[in-house]
Amino acid sequence: MKTKEAYSIKFQQLYFDLLVEFANSVMDVEQIFQTAIGQLKHLIDSSYCAVYVYHPGVQQFRLAHYQADKALFQPLEIVGRNNHYDEHMVLQYVPLGMEVKIIPLKPIGDVEILFVFSVDQEHQPFTETEVISCMKETEKFLSIIIPLINNKQNNDNHEFLYELSTRLFAKNIQTEILTEVVDALKVRYPDYEFYLLLSQDSDAGGLPIKMIEYTDDQADNKSTRAFLTGELQIEIQEEEGIASIYAPLVGNQAIYGVLQIMTSISTYFSRKSLLFLTEFANLTGIAIERTTLYQNSKEQVSSLSFVNEFSRRLNSKLEIDEITRLVKQEIINLCSASEVGFIYFDAENQLGSNVLAESTAYFSTEAGKQFVKPLMDKAASEREAIFSGNFASSIASQYHSVMAIPIDHTEYSNGLVVILHEDRYHFTFESFKLMQALIQHTSLAITNSLLRERLERTVITDYLTGLYSRNYLEESIETSFKADKRGVLLLFDIDNFKQINDTYGHHAGDQVIIQVSDTMRQYVDIAYGHVPARWGGEELSIYLPNAMIEEGIEIATHIREKVEATSKPDVTVSCGVSSWKQGDQDTTINLFLRTDRALYQAKRLGKNRVEKN
Ligand code: GH3
Ligand code: MG
Ligand code: MG
Repeated sequence: MKTKEAYSIKFQQLYFDLLVEFANSVMDVEQIFQTAIGQLKHLIDSSYCAVYVYHPGVQQFRLAHYQADKALFQPLEIVGRNNHYDEHMVLQYVPLGMEVKIIPLKPIGDVEILFVFSVDQEHQPFTETEVISCMKETEKFLSIIIPLINNKQNNDNHEFLYELSTRLFAKNIQTEILTEVVDALKVRYPDYEFYLLLSQDSDAGGLPIKMIEYTDDQADNKSTRAFLTGELQIEIQEEEGIASIYAPLVGNQAIYGVLQIMTSISTYFSRKSLLFLTEFANLTGIAIERTTLYQNSKEQVSSLSFVNEFSRRLNSKLEIDEITRLVKQEIINLCSASEVGFIYFDAENQLGSNVLAESTAYFSTEAGKQFVKPLMDKAASEREAIFSGNFASSIASQYHSVMAIPIDHTEYSNGLVVILHEDRYHFTFESFKLMQALIQHTSLAITNSLLRERLERTVITDYLTGLYSRNYLEESIETSFKADKRGVLLLFDIDNFKQINDTYGHHAGDQVIIQVSDTMRQYVDIAYGHVPARWGGEELSIYLPNAMIEEGIEIATHIREKVEATSKPDVTVSCGVSSWKQGDQDTTINLFLRTDRALYQAKRLGKNRVEKN
């Protein structure tokens, strides 16, 4: 008959041996339990002996080791907790004359444990007190071995994560990072299936990577929930016998995806191993974040230097059409836009006249103007750029992607660049930022050339001759058409002027233009409202309000004769004359055209003459 002490000592001996074995070997938890159970079974002469561990995920106790006696006794999961267990919960079939005892052990950390063994009712090898003292030894053993296992795991985990992080942070390319992560997972979980569910497209072919399915109706989905909440999720698929753990890849600024690990439903994941998974996923998240930031900053630097170079090129240009043509081309290249419009706010802020010539055709159509109007109003009042992938226009329009970026000039907006595409969400946020940078940097060039043209339009004297500017002449004629009864327009062109330039040089040519201008001045009277002007180049003009055509021809002839007689080097002029009078339904444009035709006639008939039309 074995004594109480004898059992205790045998237990002590057994557990001590196991501890030594554990210290010298690489046994995992299951193997430790397996060995312990095998020997215990033998020691207490029992036909069924098992350790059950509580799985919080499925809220059940499950075998902590591989079942040796599967054929004889089909073990069950134990659903009850807090001492509400009975033998029918443990074995599907309990042979007659056999009793199953379930003994809860002191929990180790957060792990609840049940010790289960069968007793032959005929042959009771030990008393209740003996059992209790054995359990005390078992508890002692577990309280030593479990922290040891955890510790060993902790150390392994730390070492594992440390090594992984060293490898990850030596890399800057996303596919390399993902390959490292997948390799590490293969080492760590060789028997499990796993996937990286990523929020952004990745070109890592061959790796177990999927795009995260992320739609509203899947908010209940565990992977989506892990992605949205940043918290680890466990999903049990009872029928398939699969448990999935979803660990979000959390970086410092965002969540980049979810790590999905699929295991058999009976695999026990302790809080420690879940914690390890969480840390693993966080490390992955931070590594992905690093490459994303690195990639972004590289792109930013290259787009900044592009923008710099581009604006340098632009600032050397003066003509607004040339500038806008270049900018338009770049915009189309960079974000494959369908339409690019340059709208500027003129002084009176009138609609219609403010679409710059190089804008694409849509902006000159009535629909285009209607489309742009609210954008302009918004830009003028808020000075904020607009970026929409699903633009709701007040008019029917085929354009759904809209970027509208103000052309800012110090304290006010000068205009707006409107970029359109038919498809929804066509422009990326990156291209929007690039466009903002591009337009911000080119707005100086655009503004300068706009101001210069505006200035040219408002200047009333010509810098070379001191005559009125063409712009002023045109405005004077417009006014005269409204205020006067009639008027005469004279248009002079210096004959064979190219030869003068070619023979004497450009400067001498300029002097000839000045001479002819001075001669013109001698025959007009500003007091009568006469407007002597430089039409452009070596073409000069006089407008005589309220004059009859005969008067115009007389003045033109005097000037022609005087130039022929006095100019040095010798030049002659040809002149076209035309008139208008009230009631003829005439227009200023027609007057210009008629005068030009008369000049052409004078040239055709041999130059140095005056013709009327
Ligand atoms: P035509 O008798 O048919 O008028 O012959 P043209 O040689 O005068 O021909 P056209 O009027 O077509 O050419 C005008 C030339 O005048 C061309 C241009 O080189 C020169 N020109 C235009 N503006 C200026 C200017 O401001 N200064 C100088 N020096 N030359 C000018
Ligand atoms: Mg000419
Ligand atoms: Mg000429």
